[in-house]
Amino acid sequence: MHQGSTPCSPRVWPGFRMQIPFDNSYARLPPQMYTAQLPTPVKAPQMIASNAALATTLGIDPADLATPEAAQVFAGNHIPHGAAPLAQAYAGHQFGNWNPQLGDGRAVLLGEVVGTDGIRRDIQLKGSGPTPYSRRGDGRAWLGPVMREYLVSEAMHAMGVPTTRALAAVTTGEDVYREEVLPGAVITRVAQSHIRVGTFQFFASRGDMTALRALTDHVIARHYPQANDPAALLDLVIARYAALIAKWMGLGFIHGVMNTDNVSIAGETIDYGPCAFIDGFHPDRAFSAIDQYGRYAYANQPGIGAWNMAQFATALIPLMPDREAAIEDFTAAVHRMPGIYEAEWRKVFGAKLGIATPTEDDGALINDLLDLMAKNGADFTNTFATLHAPNARDQFISRDAFDAWADRWHLRRSADAVAMMARANPQIIPRNHRIEEVIVAGRNGDYAPFHALLAAITDPYVPLTEDTAPFARAPSEDEHVTRTFCGT
Ligand code: AMP
Ligand code: MG
Repeated sequence: MHQGSTPCSPRVWPGFRMQIPFDNSYARLPPQMYTAQLPTPVKAPQMIASNAALATTLGIDPADLATPEAAQVFAGNHIPHGAAPLAQAYAGHQFGNWNPQLGDGRAVLLGEVVGTDGIRRDIQLKGSGPTPYSRRGDGRAWLGPVMREYLVSEAMHAMGVPTTRALAAVTTGEDVYREEVLPGAVITRVAQSHIRVGTFQFFASRGDMTALRALTDHVIARHYPQANDPAALLDLVIARYAALIAKWMGLGFIHGVMNTDNVSIAGETIDYGPCAFIDGFHPDRAFSAIDQYGRYAYANQPGIGAWNMAQFATALIPLMPDREAAIEDFTAAVHRMPGIYEAEWRKVFGAKLGIATPTEDDGALINDLLDLMAKNGADFTNTFATLHAPNARDQFISRDAFDAWADRWHLRRSADAVAMMARANPQIIPRNHRIEEVIVAGRNGDYAPFHALLAAITDPYVPLTEDTAPFARAPSEDEHVTRTFCGT
């Protein structure tokens, strides 16, 4: 594997108008941390979707998204001025098994921009062709997962969950070969950074102290400027990750592949593969076809989160002058995560139930509702979205049990509970069966269902209308999606 080549000279064609104000800090880090890598051009790029609001935040003129050249940029055919395309090296634990060599196998970081909000973000093309980290993969993505990531990441953002964003999606005009021939696509992903727990693991496992130090300094300066050493960094990452997982739990969201290479150091949800929102609730629910034993099932997510933070702590240990003491301190830090998570979880579910200051007893009240929901297979999103209504009990087979629970709940509800609940409980999520419909239509060249769902999930808290009500409906028996796929 060749690493550390100097950044490629951009492939710029004259006459292109789109300006992206790049400032590429990762490309200034030690060269063994990445490989300079241009995207591989594609035959016939066509824009499917672009995100004008996000473009504006990034300092890109949204009018440029509507020009023919936009598809060339977001397919990787035209490299905009100032980009320094590269593929990042990382490692990771996949389903608990150590893999020393992963990295961007089908993605290229075009560069970074500092947005109008002062936040530095990566702009990355995913599905942009092979890199030295591709192993046996083709470096490509097909339309299905690109549409899913676009929809789910934008929905998560609309619901206040830290997440990577979708700036654009294009089809490539080329075939991708999986079990069948599929249309190729590229998604442009925007993240506070693409640095993962696995990025730290890559250098720690190689004993590359130069890179490990540079990475740590970079992450502190970029994401956690209040941290003055790796121990403080660990505490802050744990706190952000615990809060993130609590938000997932509050939406019935199952990430599906919580491998350490899919854990963003910035605390954003990243790598939407076989992810899914629960319809009929059960804590053991898992969707991913490759997650045979339910390692990443709904209720396991907080525990796996702590496991992932233990791997992060391990990767930071070599930076500490007194390793024995650091092992003790870092172990204690990881052991604090469940308590931090509990408090975040109570806040999230407290708001969903209209309880302003949830106590530990309220934790039991919340769990009792979740138990009832599981026993009744109640639809996760709709139960919370309609809990304030007189007919909430209709979601439950044993209505007496629900009424008994509701009596306890009424004693704890805040005066403004209904308003609180309306802000905390989305009416519309990108339901699995809807996403499947969108993908089927997209394969036939019809993107209207994609845009309709995108519009609906962008405004998930407003009362339902005649147009949006169908998106809120739980799947019927034959619409149920039981398995999701990584879609690589
Ligand atoms: P993921 O399951 O998307 O988190 O990917 C795990 C690893 O496999 C990462 O290193 C990816 O870059 C790599 N990978 C996934 N799909 C492909 C593909 N089609 N071509 C090359 N590498 C891939
Ligand atoms: Mg990944």
